[in-house]
Amino acid sequence: MEKNEIDALKEKLFYAPKHASYSMTEDEIRGADDFCEGYKNFLDNGKTERECTAEIIKLAEANGFSQFIPGEKYSQGEKIYYNNRNKSVILCVIGKKSIAEGVKIAAAHIDSPRLDLKPSPLYEDSDMAYFKTHYYGGIKKYQWPTIPLSLHGAVVLKDGTVIKVTVGEDDEDPKFVVTDLLPHLGREQSKRTLGEAIKGEDLTVLIGSRPFNSDDASESVKLNIMNILYEKYGFTETDFLSAELEMVPAFKSCDIGLDRSMIGAYGHDDRVCAYPAVMAVLDAEEPEYTVMSVLTDKEEIGSDGNTGLNSSYMKYFINYLAVAEGYDGYQVLRKSECLSADVTAAFDPIYPEVMDKRNSAFINKGVAVMKYTGAGGKSGTSDASAEFMGKVRRILDDAKVIWQVGELGKVDAGGGGTVAKYVANLDVDVVDIGVPVLSMHSPFETVSKIDVYMAYRAFSEFFKIK
Ligand code: MN
Ligand code: MN
Repeated sequence: MEKNEIDALKEKLFYAPKHASYSMTEDEIRGADDFCEGYKNFLDNGKTERECTAEIIKLAEANGFSQFIPGEKYSQGEKIYYNNRNKSVILCVIGKKSIAEGVKIAAAHIDSPRLDLKPSPLYEDSDMAYFKTHYYGGIKKYQWPTIPLSLHGAVVLKDGTVIKVTVGEDDEDPKFVVTDLLPHLGREQSKRTLGEAIKGEDLTVLIGSRPFNSDDASESVKLNIMNILYEKYGFTETDFLSAELEMVPAFKSCDIGLDRSMIGAYGHDDRVCAYPAVMAVLDAEEPEYTVMSVLTDKEEIGSDGNTGLNSSYMKYFINYLAVAEGYDGYQVLRKSECLSADVTAAFDPIYPEVMDKRNSAFINKGVAVMKYTGAGGKSGTSDASAEFMGKVRRILDDAKVIWQVGELGKVDAGGGGTVAKYVANLDVDVVDIGVPVLSMHSPFETVSKIDVYMAYRAFSEFFKIK
């Protein structure tokens, strides 16, 4: 056999994903870069699930979506959104086919790891004022000190008034910081393991250092801070009890690399799948099936809570649509299909030892399809069927969406879960698919622009199923 024949045979018989740009035109690559400008905007405007929900509803309304009314019967082509408690949202376009044929779902989450303020967060020590925090989601605690933080969230007053808080996002805004020990005095600290070097209770945020009226009375710095908050927002210390306030990294998204091929930002997990899922449903014109993007909350803490996908809000939403057409929800769910759109770990050549290179996702090789997630013997995953994997593969290949296989890491290295199992538990076919991320769950994660665009293309094609 000639060498080129052998190469052709390899091409035919081997699975060998390549850098996506090899099979993209200049125009397509430029299209991917352009798409990511919108994504970067989305990242900077939404750093919490509340902000993302508001941003997504704004986009939806601008694209002709109206608020869902339970019990209403919707007809083909109608665009609706369901706002679940301002922290998760479903965007839906009614299809040509009967709802009894099932719906197509893309589900991504809009919460990200961060530092939540405790219910009684404010105190003063050594003439400095602090907020105590309880971290939310899986973080490496040592990554959070000595970076600029911003404060986001909502405070609900006793009369029900909701006060929105954002401090630290504008250039001229003050920021906040968790301090760390100087290396000169860190001899004992540096003997601790990485997981224990910074303890949960050490993630306490410095928020002020000047006393009220230059007064030397006790807790004068705390009083000054509380007075600033009262004058600006009208709330008192007791109101922290009915608040959801979060510290997140204050930096904006930006291009990474001299070639500008990547994006660095806080919260790619999972806004990097949420934004493409939102764009795909906004662009879904007269779909055959009813299509919906579910942008959910609480994934980072296990999907529990009534804004997470382990609750019934999506099931009930689908049931409302089903009943309006004369069916039961379960008849729709059993014929429905879902892309669980969540990120996966990208292979990092600096830390190859935890990855199985043959089953890892790589940045720039397209959107990653993961048959299962979970940990230690596929525990805590839905494990998609070969049949559904086959169908998804066919859809992606037919539309020339660049994709690759992904697995979180070596079998015994650790693991993680997604919303897939909660959707699968509703009798829906589901598979995980998403963008590979470097430094996942850190305050500043990195993704490839091409992969973000391929996620958008994958969800779009899924919504075009005939
Ligand atoms: Mn995620
Ligand atoms: Mn995550």
